[in-house]
Amino acid sequence: MSAVTACTWGAGSNETEELLTLARKLSSDGGGEFVWAVVGPADAAALQETAGKHGVTRIDRIESAALESYGADAYVEALAAYCEQREPSKLLFSQTFDARTVAPRLAGRTNTPVVMNALDLASGDEGRLLVTASAFGGDTRAVYRVAGDRAIVCVMANAVAAEPAGTATTPAIERVDVTPAGDERVRVVEAARTEGPRLEDAQVIVAGGRGLGDAANFALVQQLAEALGGMAAASRPIVDDGWTDAAKQIGLTGKIVRPALYIAAGISGASQHMAGCAAAKTIVAINRDPDAAIFRYARYGIVGDCVELLPELTKQVGR
Ligand SMILES: Cc1cc2nc3c(=O)[nH]c(=O)nc-3n(C[C@H](O)[C@H](O)[C@H](O)COP(=O)(O)OP(=O)(O)OC[C@H]3O[C@@H](n4cnc5c(N)ncnc54)[C@H](O)[C@@H]3O)c2cc1C
Repeated sequence: MSAVTACTWGAGSNETEELLTLARKLSSDGGGEFVWAVVGPADAAALQETAGKHGVTRIDRIESAALESYGADAYVEALAAYCEQREPSKLLFSQTFDARTVAPRLAGRTNTPVVMNALDLASGDEGRLLVTASAFGGDTRAVYRVAGDRAIVCVMANAVAAEPAGTATTPAIERVDVTPAGDERVRVVEAARTEGPRLEDAQVIVAGGRGLGDAANFALVQQLAEALGGMAAASRPIVDDGWTDAAKQIGLTGKIVRPALYIAAGISGASQHMAGCAAAKTIVAINRDPDAAIFRYARYGIVGDCVELLPELTKQVGR
């Protein structure tokens, strides 16, 4: 059966709603029935509410004791069994850390083409799936035309803005029985800390780069972020140099964000950084070099020394 199936672990977060938005667009573009496959435990009422808001026609619950918590082997096995039973034609994942592990393995198991780093999906000639994806380390975008009827796609966070459907639905919930063994070959011994607000959800972000000149100056970024009620972030070199932690890195190999306001201080505007923040509504750049690439993306640009300007801006916000 032809179905566009968005797949998540549990009810998920903002990324789930983005994925459902994209899946709905593809299914109404001629992709077929719009299904949400949920692996592991989740609150049924919350699922139905989110699914209804996004116009999902059916929720497939993939449950088993071995899926109570995430394990790559069990999830791949369960999803391979699901694909055999339901034959989804397009299976979409949010490109989370877990999905990066599961999707390519599932593609191998089910002999299905897989596209990673997706930013948009459309139905092309003869119903062939067209996937726009970030390519060459974020330097460019490529459009892939997938041969055949089946595809697995991993969609990057914040690639699209989550939007509810015009008409709500009351989707049926169907249980899909799978029996994965649950013998994980690789186990997480220490998980990264994930408490607190997430950069991906922040509406205001102040990011610092190598132009800060010194690790101690990252405090200037944090002070302005705090004054604006936002969050601090960073470019990759200053994360690599230990000026701040890796959870704050924006870009292709960091977080992809879509805030209302993104202030970039001492950041050159390399494509790999911009891959993480170009979707911000308003970008304000502070850079000493009037020819810096960041000014091509910025709505407002300040040519000057960010070490002097950041405290001045913090002072002005506090007035
Ligand atoms: C595969 C790959 C993946 C990558 N992934 C990422 C990623 O996820 N995120 C990321 O950020 N990078 C990533 N990079 C690195 C990226 O290519 C750039 O090297 C990096 O973004 C540059 O960081 P920056 O702008 O802080 O530093 P720089 O390029 O050194 O730029 C510093 C800027 O600060 C300005 N400046 C200097 N002093 C001042 C001052 N006092 N006041 C104001 N401005 C000043 C300079 O004019 C310059 O424009 C990746 C690279 C590769 C190859």
